This record gives sequence, C-alpha cells and structure tokens, in this order.
Amino acid sequence: MTLIALNADVLVTMDAQRREIRDGALVAEGPAVQWVGPTAELPPQYRRMVDDGSAQVLDMRGRVVTPGLVNTHHHMYQSLTRAVPAAQDAELFSWLTNLYMLWSHLTPEMIAVSTKTAMAELMLSGCTTTSDHLYLFPNGSRLDDSIAAAQEMGMRFHAARGSMSVGRSKGGLPPDVVVEDEAAILRDSQRLVEQYHDSARHAMLRVVLAPCSPFSVSRDLMRESAVMARHYGVSLHTHLAENDNDIAYSREKFGLTPAQYAEDLGWVGHDVWHAHCVKLDDEGIALFARTGTGVAHCPCSNMRLASGIAPVRAMRDAGVPVGLGVDGSASNDGAHMLGEARQAMLLQRVGYGPAAMSAREALEIATLGGARVLNRDDIGALAPGMSADFVAFDMSSVGYAGAGHDPVAALVFCTPANVAASVINGREVVRDGELLTADLPAVLLRHRALARTLFERASVGA
Ligand SMILES: [Zn+2]
Repeated sequence: MTLIALNADVLVTMDAQRREIRDGALVAEGPAVQWVGPTAELPPQYRRMVDDGSAQVLDMRGRVVTPGLVNTHHHMYQSLTRAVPAAQDAELFSWLTNLYMLWSHLTPEMIAVSTKTAMAELMLSGCTTTSDHLYLFPNGSRLDDSIAAAQEMGMRFHAARGSMSVGRSKGGLPPDVVVEDEAAILRDSQRLVEQYHDSARHAMLRVVLAPCSPFSVSRDLMRESAVMARHYGVSLHTHLAENDNDIAYSREKFGLTPAQYAEDLGWVGHDVWHAHCVKLDDEGIALFARTGTGVAHCPCSNMRLASGIAPVRAMRDAGVPVGLGVDGSASNDGAHMLGEARQAMLLQRVGYGPAAMSAREALEIATLGGARVLNRDDIGALAPGMSADFVAFDMSSVGYAGAGHDPVAALVFCTPANVAASVINGREVVRDGELLTADLPAVLLRHRALARTLFERASVGA
C-alpha cells in the first residue's frame, strides 16, 4: 500500500541536514518512507497515483508534519492512579510507599485497559513509539497484557519487563507482597524475549529487560539481566540517580554513586538507558558519554516530585544520548509528549539560562534523541528507508494564532496541541484528531470503572 502525504505547510525531517521543507510531501510504501521533498517535486509515478486514486492520499494543508515523537519512559498502569490524594504532595520514596499497596490490587484487565488508555493519550499527543516499564505483576498480570494492548492500538512498542525482588523485609523499599522471586523473573524475561522480541528494521515490538531500580532489586538480578540482555541482543532499562535520597541509598548500600554502581554491574552501553539521572554527576556524565549510555529525561515528573533539574544541557554537550519520557501517570498526571518537549525546554532554561535549550533542540530530543536512546536507527527522522511514523499538527487552532512566523518553534513554545493526524508504520491511526484504532469513549468508560474498583479493593483488602 502506498500512502502519500501532500501540501504540508512545513515538513520537519530531522534528517542529517535537519531540513524543514516548505509545502512538503512524503511517500510511504508499506512500513517505510520512500521519498520526501517539496510537493511540487513529487516524482511522476507518485503524481499519477495521486491522480488515479491508487494511493492513499493525506492532504496536510494548514498542518506542520514532524517525525512521530518517541516516549522512552512510562508506567502506563499508573493512569489508574492519577491525582491520588495521599500521593499528591510527596517526594519519590514516600510517594512510592503510599502507592505500592494500592498497585498490589492490579489485575490483568486493569493492565490491558490502562495501557490502551495511556497509549491513546500518547498517540493523540504526537507519540508514535513508546516504551512502557511494567514492574509489578499482581493477581496473574503479565507483560503479555500490555503487549496485546499495544498491538490493538497499533503503536510501536518497547515493552520493558520490569521487576522488584528486594522487599521491605530484606531492606528494600517495596512491601514484600509486590516483589517476585529472582529465578522466576529471569525465566519470565527469557520467555518474553523468545516469544515477542523482533530485532528487524521497522519492528513494531521489542522486549527490554528492566529491573525496577537499585533500591528494589539485588545486585545479582541486575548482573544476570545484563548477561541475558547481551545474549539476546535486547536493551536494558532502569531508574537511576532520581533524587537525593536515591543517591544516599546508593552510597549507603553499595558504597558507590549510581553511575559507578551502573558501571560495576555492566549497565552501561548503547543498549542501556536509565530514567531520570537528575543527580548524575560529572563523572557519570563522562561515563555515559564515553559508553553511549542513554538517559530518559522526564521533566514533568522531576518537577512534580521535586527531584530537581536534570543536567540535560551538560549531558547533550558531552554527547550523552538523551530522550524524553512522560514517566508514569502517577508522577506526571498528564502524559502529553509534545507537552513534555515544551517542559524540557522550559526547565533547562530555569536551571541554566535562556539559551540552555531551543524549541528545535527540544523537538530533536523528542524524536531523534528518543530513537537513539531506544537503540534504533529506523525511527525519529523522515527520510527514505526510515519507518513511516509521522504526525501532523493543525496550525489553524487558536493555540497557534499569531505564531505563523515560525510554525515549527510554535509547536514547542505554544500550548501543546493534540495531533490532527498520525501515521505509524505506514498506517493511518489518527484522522482529523480522532483515534482510528480504538473506541476511545468505551475504553475510557471501562478505565474509569476499573480505577474505582482498584481503590475499593485496596481499601477493603489491604
Ligand atoms: Zn519511572
């Protein structure tokens, strides 16, 4: 199937020259981009297909087209526990402690429906590829539940098999009821990789090994996971250096900074990315740059939990791969990818001055940056051979009024808008602002009921 997008006010390529094409067009065949350029220069064979109706044509007049945004960190099940009163005003460790017991009542259906809900929100906000870090599996839940949801939604997905194994009785943070046995974690990780991981170009599904954090799993599990990941060629992901308590825990338990601990465990390299890294020190930044270790920067979550300002400017200057993450919906109660890019830009300016990050750099981090963090070279830019993942924003909406001087920068400077159109892997998934792959009102109705059920079970059962 050939898909031809025409007449975009501007087509942002993020290609090697960072071209922004006025009156741009794009041709996709199946999952891949075949041609990108000005609409007036569309090759004759494609022009004929537009004229004879043999291609699917998307008119992008009045719209800015960009590569699909890449979300590198999320906990989608948390969309059931937004704005929980007991966890509204806490820092990380007490926030977690207030939520763990609630999450212990999750069911497979809750995982599936919350994943669909979170993906709908992401897709409408410009995201086409996402990772999800699921690290609790109560009541028979499995990573398969979120994988099935992603396939239904049509989103490109990096499913991170999280885990927690060190409960409170062993000096960890989580209550014992939500931790798993380490041998079982490794067995299930192996099963998931063998069953689902697709290493091919344009893969829609990859599996990631992702023990939750240094304060909830053992040294052994971190090491064993790294060995398994290298054996299968899959990526590794965890939380690192999120706030001052996190640093204190690392120094006290391991006698190392988080970056030193990561290096000691084999958790550095282009196949590894760490969420947050708000407190990554200069030595850690140099280590990450040298090894190509990635960072998922989550500005809204960092502000929400008062964790601090991640040194993204210094990371980027040193050459550390940086992508964006909305983080779980319980620590960023909104999960808008374009909004996250805006906050990334604003927060660097708060920390390091008005020149610390431009709108275009924020967009680059949200696209190419995320692709690099996920260890992919087939997404994040629109050029021949890249995956056909792109989104379009309607510049006639009130939020962009008066911003025609620079519509590309406007995407980041103005109030974040939802997309008018989205194409993932050559397939149209949003048309005129409506999601095509799910009955969203029905999903949200069920989601609301399940969120209520979760609270009822927790108040009775805990
Ligand atoms: Zn997280």
